[in-house]
Amino acid sequence: MSDKRRYERPVVLKQQTGFMNKFGSGPLTHPKSEIDGIPVSELAERFGTPLFVISERRIRENQRRATRVFSTRYPAVRFAWSYKTNYLNAVCSVFHQEGSWAEVVSGFEYEKARRLGVKGEHIIFNGPSKTKDDIRRAIKEGAAIHIDHFDELYDVFEISREEDRTARVAIRVNCDTGVYPKWDRFGFNFENDEAKQALRRIMTSDRLNPVGLHTHIGTYMMTTDSYKTATDKLVELAAWLKTEYGHTLEYIDIGGGFPSNNTLNGQYLPAEQIVPSIEEYANAISTALLSLPYAKDELPVLILETGRALIDDAASLITTILALKRLSDGRRALIIDAGVNILITRFWYKHKITPAQPGGVMTENTAIYGPLCMNIDCIAENIVLPVMKKGDRLVIDYVGAYDMTQWMQFITLRPNIVMVMEDGSVELIRESENIEYLLENERIPEKLRSFSL
Ligand SMILES: *Cc1c(COP(=O)(O)O)cnc(C)c1O
Repeated sequence: MSDKRRYERPVVLKQQTGFMNKFGSGPLTHPKSEIDGIPVSELAERFGTPLFVISERRIRENQRRATRVFSTRYPAVRFAWSYKTNYLNAVCSVFHQEGSWAEVVSGFEYEKARRLGVKGEHIIFNGPSKTKDDIRRAIKEGAAIHIDHFDELYDVFEISREEDRTARVAIRVNCDTGVYPKWDRFGFNFENDEAKQALRRIMTSDRLNPVGLHTHIGTYMMTTDSYKTATDKLVELAAWLKTEYGHTLEYIDIGGGFPSNNTLNGQYLPAEQIVPSIEEYANAISTALLSLPYAKDELPVLILETGRALIDDAASLITTILALKRLSDGRRALIIDAGVNILITRFWYKHKITPAQPGGVMTENTAIYGPLCMNIDCIAENIVLPVMKKGDRLVIDYVGAYDMTQWMQFITLRPNIVMVMEDGSVELIRESENIEYLLENERIPEKLRSFSL
């Protein structure tokens, strides 16, 4: 009979090691052999490893999606790129081409934005440590100065008088958003009325033009409610300015802080499954903002200083396995050529780490160490990976935010960074450092110039 089923003999299969996740699926070991269509092996051979690879296309997609999500919910939206998140010139320029202003937190970042061609009027100057020279320059160039504390307010007041110019100012406000510990070290507090007190002082001066209100409630904020609460409080202040002084604001700046898809250390479920979507943040913020008692044509611009959520997944770090060993507890360990000095976010995140080449079905719990001769140089304590050998490569994902600004020379120097362009070409956007670069700023006193051993 033709419909008789074929006999299959029973088999016994060895179970693979490694934890299942909550949904009963085994660990993923599909290799990541390409980045934006370019083979990892080709990138590694051409530029060496470790190598940061940034996707131009992904940055643009992220920014366009965020702009679309917010501007469908609120009529006037402006992004300002958070320089400290990643201030590589090429990265900032992509954001500026997409229409983002610059958000800077130091004189050095301000200068960086100006050299890229950003005008003062498109710079938002945040941070608790502006010097008098910084403030003078910002006033002259029409940047928005986001005042952090009373001493700075007095400086701005004094310098605007000396220069006989009007300063465009906003105050940074901190408030209880229901997320603890509270972020109250930056700006003026809402609950104790310090914020109103600062605004009252500003309103008495005809050289200070209060153009906006600012808050940045924290970073990697996992609840959308905290944004709703913070926006409600800024709306309350804006409404008060209007009734008390008849003053309307140009913008309300809600800062950054949306999470990226990196999973925090100590977090059980992967970030992709628990982090709210950007739509949910946009709903929370725009709902609160639309309740502002302003006429339709007076509605302030909503400014967003989103950092990590726009750049984290646009960069990967390619690394090479230098050696394999067994630890005393039987665990397999890899030594790779990328250390915590270039992957500082390792202290916050369990990164997504994937082999760049096929590795078979057998997996094992593995510790990954960097190349530094320091105990802290651990990239992953326990990660399930297939069998690999010396010379194989790993791709560490979601490294676009803060790694390329907080990195340092320590035992090893900083490596090449390339950008995969939309047309598939690959551009070197920051060259690896060499000994000359490191020695450039060193000076050796005369008496120390010679020795005999
Ligand atoms: C760091 C910072 C940002 C960006 O924060 P993310 O968490 O990366 O979105 C925005 N605004 C200010 C004032 C900041 O200090």
